[in-house]
Amino acid sequence: MLGKLTRWLRMLGYNVKYSNELDDAQLITITKKERRILLTRDLELYQQATAKGVDVLYLEGKTETEKLAELAKRFNIKLDIDMATSRCPKCNARVKKIPKEKVADKVEKSTFAYYNEFWECPRCGQIYWQGAHWKRIRKTLETAKENTKKPSQNKK
Ligand SMILES: [Zn+2]
Repeated sequence: MLGKLTRWLRMLGYNVKYSNELDDAQLITITKKERRILLTRDLELYQQATAKGVDVLYLEGKTETEKLAELAKRFNIKLDIDMATSRCPKCNARVKKIPKEKVADKVEKSTFAYYNEFWECPRCGQIYWQGAHWKRIRKTLETAKENTKKPSQNKK
């Protein structure tokens, strides 16, 4: 349910595990064992996790920006992407800067011509650059920052 949010948090540099296949008991066990924080929109899971002493946040926000704002407020997350610590949104590995010449045959010619900075995921091989989509990413984060200034609606 929180796949999009997972990708955002990874880009922001957080180590995020995501699964649709684990049941509630498994989620609670893993969260405890790996000392993670459980994020969920499932009220029943939230209550179970709380009862078992797991660090859990019940996300109420409807949009990504609302959810990001909830997280930023609760955990003091900085809503800025730092490529030095950013993680691959697909697989959670830290991306690494890669010299431009090494991506020549991995990206479109026009992308190669236009951009000079590239990052590669050492795990899945995905190449990243701050292309046209980057504006939208910044805008979303700015909106999320604005949302953190609104009074909280999270009563739990
Ligand atoms: Zn990856």
